[in-house]
Amino acid sequence: MSDSTERRLDEGRITRPTLAIDAIPAFEDNYIWLIHENGLAVVVDPGDAAPVRARLQAADLRLVAILLTHHHNDHVGGVAELVAATGAPVYGPANERLPHCDHPMREGDRVEIPELKIALHVLDVPGHTAGHIAYAGKVDGRDVVFCGDTLFSGGCGRLFEGTPADMHGSLAKLAALPRATLAYCAHEYTLSNLKWARAVDPGNAPLAGWQRTADGLRAQQRPTLPTPIGVELAINPFLRTGDPTVRAAAEAHAGKPLSDEVAVLATLRTWKNDFR
Ligand SMILES: [Zn+2]
Repeated sequence: MSDSTERRLDEGRITRPTLAIDAIPAFEDNYIWLIHENGLAVVVDPGDAAPVRARLQAADLRLVAILLTHHHNDHVGGVAELVAATGAPVYGPANERLPHCDHPMREGDRVEIPELKIALHVLDVPGHTAGHIAYAGKVDGRDVVFCGDTLFSGGCGRLFEGTPADMHGSLAKLAALPRATLAYCAHEYTLSNLKWARAVDPGNAPLAGWQRTADGLRAQQRPTLPTPIGVELAINPFLRTGDPTVRAAAEAHAGKPLSDEVAVLATLRTWKNDFR
């Protein structure tokens, strides 16, 4: 029996702990993902400490690790305060400057936290930032990926530090994960992405269906995330740069033939940046 289980029994509470991955909303549209079970928690990309500390306190959770995908402040802004308050070790991209990092991670490195049934491996996914990483693998037997600002439902991250070729390679790694893999993206950008995706690929029936579902979720202020990789393969233009319809739409937008999938992705990224 674990210490926390004993403590719960001592307190006379009847609990049936099950592992959960919750979205903690932060700022305008960030999600800080919290994995927790049986009094223990791991947090991904805590851009703000306050809502995380409030959740830890309210649910009586002890933070055992902090995972970071990239250096942007809306993903790391709460790290220093959480480390000071909890002493939790920080895992983060080896090639980026972070407020704090105990375990610099690069492709192939692993994060294993048996108490929370977490067994993840690191993918280098440059593009949004130069050193961006993702954590893919199993949580409680489910295939998951914490992909930060690389993949969104119906979209991908802006190319602040990387090239279209970088992003194409990074998205290919995520697209190669098992189709049931749940992608825990770090922003609720889904509706605006789908509006643009419909302009790119208006005849895509799964896309139209997902847009109706996502509209319904947002009308109830519920997250549209996580999103299965299999859904994104069907609806997300950035994962469909080899699809003839998506390619034709990109070529029409560019007003010229495009030589390869990287050129298609570059055109899609520019199109999305300017889309209102
Ligand atoms: Zn970012």
